Amino acid sequence: MKRMNTSLILSNIRSSGQISRIELAKATGLTAATVTNITSWLIDNGLVEECSVGVSTGGRKPVLLRLRQDRFFAASAYISPVGVDFAVSDFGANIIYRHSRRFDGTATPEECTAYIAQQVRTFGESRDCTIAGLGLGVHGITDAHHGDIVNSPILKWKNVPIKAMLSEACSLCVYPENDVRLMATAERWYGTASACEDFVYLYVGSGVGSAIISGGSLLRGVNNAAGEIGHSIIDPLGPVCECGKRGCLQAHTGEGAMLRALHENLSLSDSLSKDSTCADIFNAYKTGDKAACAVVEREVSYLSAAVFNIANLFDPSLIVVGSGIDGFCEAIVPRLADATVGAMGMREQSCPVSASVLGCDAVLLGGIATVLDRVCEDPAKLFE
Ligand SMILES: [Zn+2]
Repeated sequence: MKRMNTSLILSNIRSSGQISRIELAKATGLTAATVTNITSWLIDNGLVEECSVGVSTGGRKPVLLRLRQDRFFAASAYISPVGVDFAVSDFGANIIYRHSRRFDGTATPEECTAYIAQQVRTFGESRDCTIAGLGLGVHGITDAHHGDIVNSPILKWKNVPIKAMLSEACSLCVYPENDVRLMATAERWYGTASACEDFVYLYVGSGVGSAIISGGSLLRGVNNAAGEIGHSIIDPLGPVCECGKRGCLQAHTGEGAMLRALHENLSLSDSLSKDSTCADIFNAYKTGDKAACAVVEREVSYLSAAVFNIANLFDPSLIVVGSGIDGFCEAIVPRLADATVGAMGMREQSCPVSASVLGCDAVLLGGIATVLDRVCEDPAKLFE
């Protein structure tokens, strides 16, 4: 019971930013004495601090509490197709240390583990502090409960017990998760979906994926593959996808599909060539290049269908679109504004579609938020 109440109070302090003991009692339904006891424990142990004086509602002005930022730290790492990014932040999600290594898609789990463990040691030697845990984003299907990477075709990893490997190498609690799910988690805590309980994050890059937040929680599915929208079939007679099926969304949209569409339309272009990148396409689009316009119109059509399907399947309050392609969100997302009009739940108004605001740090920030989630669930674990 004490553990549950402590978790409830710490979670409320975290999500509110600043809150008085009286407001905490109201928000949690706990007695004033319980709130006083638990907040004293949280202050004594460096998780919470008194920060300023609030507005009086008649009597003495209440003292406000907030999460203490500088006592504990959260580590985060991202194993992506191009390498590993590592960061450490304070509890305010301010990144105070970062390091990256490029691996060119050839890294083994052992090499990535050794690199991350070495970074944890390097940071630990530079300052005397306690790291509360390591959030880990992985490109591929990840079993967050057991801590395994089930299948990452692009890394060519299958059934890798990454949590066990990293926990042993780093002596930290490790929380692995699929990268797009961490982008969504970050968007909820630090981005454009703040306090959103029902939203869908759609990522378009070399692959296409999504993460679904439903009732405030990530929807994972029985096989941890919920949200693999890139392999939803939108045209059974369409081109063959890398997964072997015909007509997947990913065979029509994203980096590979855009480059194929460019090659088909090259004769229309004044400035693009067969070596152009997607970023080049978006630059040429701004100048009205006909081939670039054709590619962008095609991308908008397919993504409009994807967004419409998301609205019908999940009835979210917001759809956030993120991309690793320079210029993508700027050109595409405004064009999706009305894409949900006509979906069954959208009779009164369409579902807003926003661009992610977190950029390339989204996965690392999601890892940091995940460490904080776990600390809030059971803060006493930090002292075991
Ligand atoms: Zn597919």
